[in-house]
Amino acid sequence: MSQDSSYSEGDLRNTGMRLKHDREWDYELDRIAEAIEEKDADTVGLQFPEGLKRRGPRVADDIRALVEERDLTDDVRVLLSGQPCYGACDLDTYLMKRSDVFVHFGHSPMKQTEKVIYVPLFSNVDVLPIIDEALEELTDPTEEGPLGLVTTAQHMNRFDEMRSALEDEGYEVKTRRGDDRLTHEGQVLGCNYASADVDADQILYVGGGKFHPLGLAMEHPDKRVVIADPVNNVVTVADTEKFIKQRYASVHKAMDAQKWGVIFCTKIGQGRWEDAERILDDNDDAYLITMDEVTPDRLRNFDMDAFVNTGCPRITTDDGPRFHKPMLTPGEYDAAVGNKPLSEIGFDTFHDTW
Ligand code: SF4
Repeated sequence: MSQDSSYSEGDLRNTGMRLKHDREWDYELDRIAEAIEEKDADTVGLQFPEGLKRRGPRVADDIRALVEERDLTDDVRVLLSGQPCYGACDLDTYLMKRSDVFVHFGHSPMKQTEKVIYVPLFSNVDVLPIIDEALEELTDPTEEGPLGLVTTAQHMNRFDEMRSALEDEGYEVKTRRGDDRLTHEGQVLGCNYASADVDADQILYVGGGKFHPLGLAMEHPDKRVVIADPVNNVVTVADTEKFIKQRYASVHKAMDAQKWGVIFCTKIGQGRWEDAERILDDNDDAYLITMDEVTPDRLRNFDMDAFVNTGCPRITTDDGPRFHKPMLTPGEYDAAVGNKPLSEIGFDTFHDTW
């Protein structure tokens, strides 16, 4: 799994939380303090993404100090989630149920609920210089028609700035909020690129890493995807060829498989029961495996010839080679068993919440 300390370029489950641009984040302590007072809370649960877990104890100290200083409640116990966390799909439901106030840091809400305070932690990186550079790579606004604009949740605070900068250059900028899994207009996730489904042949993706725009280009093969990465300060054009070859190779390896392990992920925002059920109905030699964290170690003891992952698609595509047997997406499974041609496999995406 990608974490700040072991960041491998392109692993988007890191979701931009790299601390290369180390900073003081706005943990919105006042909002948390208000909720503690309002609920007369005894317990506060805090959940951080992997790259920010090390900040947890200090935030806990700050919350306790604030409670004491403002005399909000008699006593408050702050609990830190130790569960891995890579997205808003990944709430620590155990801790949530046992906390009077539960705070999820680092991601925007996948589903609004009063039970969770989401603190998004926006990036402080200036996006305008990289947009300026990206103009070189984008085709002329008068020639190619409208331009689609997307970004990740952590740069959302600059979305209007991005749009204005492009409009000032003469582009007609097209944006939309893809579907319910996304919080904002123009937002993409590693598993959802519906916001790029706009009437434009070119899409400008502003954000770190390579895997989001790769997924974007796979999902929208008819569009040219220009990547403006303000974190690494580089502009490139998404190229899916290598990625497609890797996926084809995985499918080929699984074509002779007899026994299939079908993974159903129990994380709140990663369950795709219908997909898992469909494969079980299709194949008498398929076995359902339920698990929260999908890792090579946890699957090693299963005597399977291949796996299909109905959980986070990034586990399949980014971590696939680390598993001891081929790991496929549901669509790739269909190609491997001959339900559809290999040429029809696409990028695996999620469109629901829970
Ligand atoms: S399921 Fe989607 S939101 Fe959740 S970690 Fe994977 S890519 Fe991110």
